[in-house]
Amino acid sequence: MKLRIAIQKSGRLHEDSIKLLKECGIDINNGVNKLKTEATNFPLEVFFLRDDDIPQYVEDGVADLGIVGENVVLEKGYPLETVEKLGFGKCRLAIAVPKSMAYNSVQDLHGKRIATSYPVIVKDFLKKVNIEAEIHEISGSVEIAPGIGLAEAICDLVSSGSTLFMNGLKEVENVLRSEAVLVANSKLTEEQKQLLRKLVFRIQAVKKAKNTKYVLLNAPNDKLPEIIGLLPGMKSPTVLPLAEAGWSSVHSVLNENDFWDIIESLKAAGAQGILVVPIEKMVI
Ligand code: ATP
Ligand code: ZN
Repeated sequence: MKLRIAIQKSGRLHEDSIKLLKECGIDINNGVNKLKTEATNFPLEVFFLRDDDIPQYVEDGVADLGIVGENVVLEKGYPLETVEKLGFGKCRLAIAVPKSMAYNSVQDLHGKRIATSYPVIVKDFLKKVNIEAEIHEISGSVEIAPGIGLAEAICDLVSSGSTLFMNGLKEVENVLRSEAVLVANSKLTEEQKQLLRKLVFRIQAVKKAKNTKYVLLNAPNDKLPEIIGLLPGMKSPTVLPLAEAGWSSVHSVLNENDFWDIIESLKAAGAQGILVVPIEKMVI
């Protein structure tokens, strides 16, 4: 018994999807131009597909799992189970208009033509904000639509906003935030679910480790209570005596977000020789 997972063949999600599987200890040889491949050390078959096709393959049960952007999952609308957010492929689906257009509120979209590759999501959004506008579905190069007179506004994926800027557009409404997700067919067998739990357990360990750092530092013993007080740790920090009398080595884990604040406080409290090292996997 194997699980079959569909990932993007090439494009923005391809490399990160492969990397995630590798970080989960799953070895695959991804030769170019291959349609599918098999993991050598996990019961997993990997299909390489266009991202737009992934939800349907998972819905039809040709694949059991898929890695795809939430934007695509929502647009296709199949009743797939979103098992885990994956933390990469982050972007937003935004409405943009020409820089020269006066724009005060969503009301300004009334009666306008909006070009997009996401008609379902845009229709939903317009309904929610109670605006009537015409949706023009196009499949690519949406950002040129206002320039060629096809539409007054567009709704497209944005990450940095530089493509919009280069095309003389400004972002005016945020319709959706998206990232890559692991989706599953809703009718997996018990055996398949068990394998999926194994995979998700590994993904969670990798994700957790990414947000966490291992910190080692030296501290004079009389400063230990204060320094230990600054460290969250998983249970409590490890404290080991140093060869030099009166000094200890303190080991702990830190959340990436609190990192700089805590390091500064640690220094101020007398910590020395602070080392920060990445964690590869973390199971709690
Ligand atoms: P395919 O050939 O597989 O159909 P594509 O051209 O439709 O590829 P990509 O541009 O590779 O798709 O984007 C894949 C996904 O990456 C998007 O659906 C989205 O979830 C995510 N993504 C992240 N940042 C961006 C961005 N700036 N622009 C477009 N997509 C982005
Ligand atoms: Zn696509």
